[in-house]
Amino acid sequence: MVRGEGAYLIDDTGRRYLDCVNNVAHVGHSNPRVVAALSAQATAVNTNARYLHDHLVDYAQALADRLPDPLSVCFFMNSGSEANDLAMRIARTVTGRTEMLTLAGGYHGNSQADIDVSPYKYAGPGGGGRPAHVLEAPMPDPYRGRHRGATPESGRAYAADLEALVHEPAAFISEALMSCAGQIEPPPAFLEHAFAAVRRAGGLCISDEVQIGFGRVGDAFWGFETQGVVPDLVTLGKPIGNGHPMAAVITTPEIAAAFANGMEYMSTFGGNPVSCAVGLAVLREIDDRELQRNARETGRHLLAGLRELAATSPLVGDCRGRGLFLGIELVRDRKTREPAPAEAAYIVERVRSRRVLLSTDGPDHNVIKIKPPLVFTRAHADELLDRLAQALAELAA
Ligand code: PMP
Repeated sequence: MVRGEGAYLIDDTGRRYLDCVNNVAHVGHSNPRVVAALSAQATAVNTNARYLHDHLVDYAQALADRLPDPLSVCFFMNSGSEANDLAMRIARTVTGRTEMLTLAGGYHGNSQADIDVSPYKYAGPGGGGRPAHVLEAPMPDPYRGRHRGATPESGRAYAADLEALVHEPAAFISEALMSCAGQIEPPPAFLEHAFAAVRRAGGLCISDEVQIGFGRVGDAFWGFETQGVVPDLVTLGKPIGNGHPMAAVITTPEIAAAFANGMEYMSTFGGNPVSCAVGLAVLREIDDRELQRNARETGRHLLAGLRELAATSPLVGDCRGRGLFLGIELVRDRKTREPAPAEAAYIVERVRSRRVLLSTDGPDHNVIKIKPPLVFTRAHADELLDRLAQALAELAA
C-alpha cells in the first residue's frame, strides 16, 4: 500500500481497497487536518516533556474533559503496550501487591508485563502458559461461553466466576468489549459486578480502551460506558494518533499521588508537542465530523445488513458488536457451533480479491472482524455487504 485516503488504501498499481479493519486510521487514512497539524508543529519545534508547551496541557485537558470524574491525571507514552505496562506498574505501586486478574482470550500488549496478562499470547503458540501471579477468568462470551445469552443473569454469572478467583489483586485489566478475543461484547451487568468484586478485594480496575475508545462503539465515547462503570485507570493507544505513535494512561488524582513515590515516570517521546498537536486534531475531527454519531448510525445499518445475510446463510452463527466494532462468527453447524476457521479465511480472501479488506480473529480464528476508520459511510457499508454476500454465495455453491 502506498497511499491512503479516507476509508481507502491504494496499492502500488493504483488499485483502491476499502479498508474495513484499520481501527488505527480512526479519522481516515492520511487525514489532511491531522497531517497539517503534525507538519505545522514539526516545522515550529519538537521537544519533549522536560520543556513546557501549551499543546501538552491542552491535550491532557481535552482528554480529561471527555472522561468521567475523577479521571483527570494523564501520563503519555508511545504505544498501547506501554500504556498497559504503566497502568499495571501504577496498580502494583499503589496497592503494594502483584496479583493481576485478566480475561481468557484477552490481549494487552507486547511487553513482558503485558504478555503476562494476555492469554491470547501466553496460552497460544510459543507461550509459556499462565504466570503464577496472574488469575484468568472465563471469557464473558454470550454466544460460545459457559453462560449463554446477553442477559444480566449471564453477566452476573461471569462476574461470580471472576469473584471466585480473586485473592489479593493489584488490578483487574480488561476491555469492555473484547477485540483480539473475537469481537466479544460481554453481557450487561458483567463489568459492574466484576469491578465491585475486585474493589471489595482491594484491587484497581484498568479499562483497556486501546481499540474500543474514542467513539468507535457509537453509543458512547468510551467502551466502559456501555457497561455503566468508571474504571480507576484507562489506557489509550492506536486511534488517538491516527497512525502517529502515541498513547496515554489516565487515572485519578488520588491514585496518581499514591504512585508518586519518588521513582518518577519518564518517557522521552510521550507527550511531545507534535504528538499532542496530532492528538488535538484527531479530537477536533471526531467532533466536527460527528464521527461517533456516524459510528452509531452506520454501524446500525451495517449490523442490520449482516443479520439479513445471516438469515440466508447457515454458516453465520452470530453477528454482533456496537457501532463500527462488529464481528461475524462462522460455524459449520448452528447447533454444535463448531467453528469454521477455513471458511472464514476463504471469505476474507474472496472479499479481498474484490478489493475489500477484512481479517479474522478469536481463539478459533472463525470471527471476521469489522473495525474500519470512523469515516466509513453507508455506501461503504453497502459495498462491504455486497462483497460478503457474493463470497458467502460462492462458498455455498
Ligand atoms: N491493548 C489492546 C486491546 C490491543 O488490541 C493492543 C494491540 N493490538 C494493545 C493493547 C497494544 O497496543 P500496541 O500494539 O500499540 O502497543
